[in-house]
Amino acid sequence: MLLSADSVFLLFIYVIYRDNVIKYKMSFESVRRNAMNKIQMTTPLVEMDGDEMTRILWQIIKDELLIPFIDLKTEYYDLGLKHRDETDDQVTRDASEATKKYGVAVKCATITPNAARVEEYDLKEMWKSPNGTIRAILDGTVFRTPIVVKGIDPVVKCWKKPITIARHAYGDVYKNVELQVPKAGKVKLTYTSDDGTVTRSVLVHSFDGPGVVQGQHNVDASITSFAKSCFEFALSEKKDLWFSSKDTISKIYDHRFKDIFADLYENEYKERFEAAGITYFYTLIDDAVARIMKSEGGFIWACKNYDGDVMSDMISSAFGSLAMMTSVLVSPHGYFEYEAAHGTVQRHYYKHLKGEETSTNSVATIFAWTGALRKRGELDELPGLIAFAEKLEEATIETIESGKMTGDLALITTLENPVKLNSADFIKAIRTVLEEKLAE
Ligand code: NAP
Ligand code: MG
Repeated sequence: MLLSADSVFLLFIYVIYRDNVIKYKMSFESVRRNAMNKIQMTTPLVEMDGDEMTRILWQIIKDELLIPFIDLKTEYYDLGLKHRDETDDQVTRDASEATKKYGVAVKCATITPNAARVEEYDLKEMWKSPNGTIRAILDGTVFRTPIVVKGIDPVVKCWKKPITIARHAYGDVYKNVELQVPKAGKVKLTYTSDDGTVTRSVLVHSFDGPGVVQGQHNVDASITSFAKSCFEFALSEKKDLWFSSKDTISKIYDHRFKDIFADLYENEYKERFEAAGITYFYTLIDDAVARIMKSEGGFIWACKNYDGDVMSDMISSAFGSLAMMTSVLVSPHGYFEYEAAHGTVQRHYYKHLKGEETSTNSVATIFAWTGALRKRGELDELPGLIAFAEKLEEATIETIESGKMTGDLALITTLENPVKLNSADFIKAIRTVLEEKLAE
């Protein structure tokens, strides 16, 4: 049968139309299926974007490791210095309030302005540290945990699992008053209640000649809130909690810390700890230090302000690298804010701006995301989201253990022939491993 030119033309039009409908239907179907296959979230995370090199990593992490796999829901706050300045820092307060509303936040490193930054960014004011503002609003304690991988070996050989440090961030020597004593005389410590009904006084020292004297304080409310954050975090992480002080020497001051922890544990946490199979352990700081050097790690160590300041630096350098340290602010009310412990890596950012290649370590920032996603998953009962967070952490660690890493780690690894990747390629290498894991 011969077809007329017109009908051939019509058939031709029809075939093109039909193929396109099929193609369109197919692409629509794949988009729909992709969206359905993505791991679902119900409540948003509070997302606090930041500055410099970490801001660059932030976007790559989202594009390569999160958005392709999860239906990422966030309430976005731009804490980049320029936007903090434009909003007179209101954005930082808004982000903190949002954290109270949703319970979980993830934060990119941010610049704390100094005189040089005021000039560099032409700031209206030398805005306060965002972390300080957030902590003041959420009233929390910061927990820092090293990320342990094979090939980046802790200096202390027996440490197999991370040691988390919690530092009480109020009072003691950081809010002290000091006096230089010029010549022989007496120094007394005097308390008078506001209504004048109670006074107490003790002799600090009777000086025979010149010397120095110092007054320190702390308040029950802050110690209690610190203790609560520690107990809450231990439950959340299912890890033992240690607390240490010098109560044998400081029989009133340090003993108050010990008592507040002990009372709270007995009255509010003991049963929950027993149910979770974890323990609370108090010991003298000297004993804690000696035991830790012989332990295999894997617990949380709550420290008074000064001990935490010093010991957190020791722990982070002994575990290998600041770029491998995560940080989470836990409020006694149960809000969690996850971030990397390091800063914005300014030196690398200036290289990046000049078009030079960078090899900046994104591990702690990735773990800030996984920490927040896992917590969101726990609160919203989303096992898929929790499993995703686990897999992303495993993929990150396995990538490094397979020898692919950023320059900072390549310098210190015990693995032979490490491959140093640039910032973006390292994240892409993690994606490859993650895709394999998700396909399993
Ligand atoms: P930093 O950003 O932590 O970086 C200090 C140095 O440590 C870097 O120059 C780099 O050493 C190394 N480093 C840190 N993180 C690294 C990573 N992820 N990968 C590879 N190397 C890493 O500290 P900073 O330079 O003193 O501070 C820069 C800005 O960060 C400041 O404006 C400060 O206010 C801010 N900051 C923010 C936070 C926060 O938001 N939580 C905390 C601390 C500092 P090399 O140069 O030798 O490669
Ligand atoms: Mg310190």
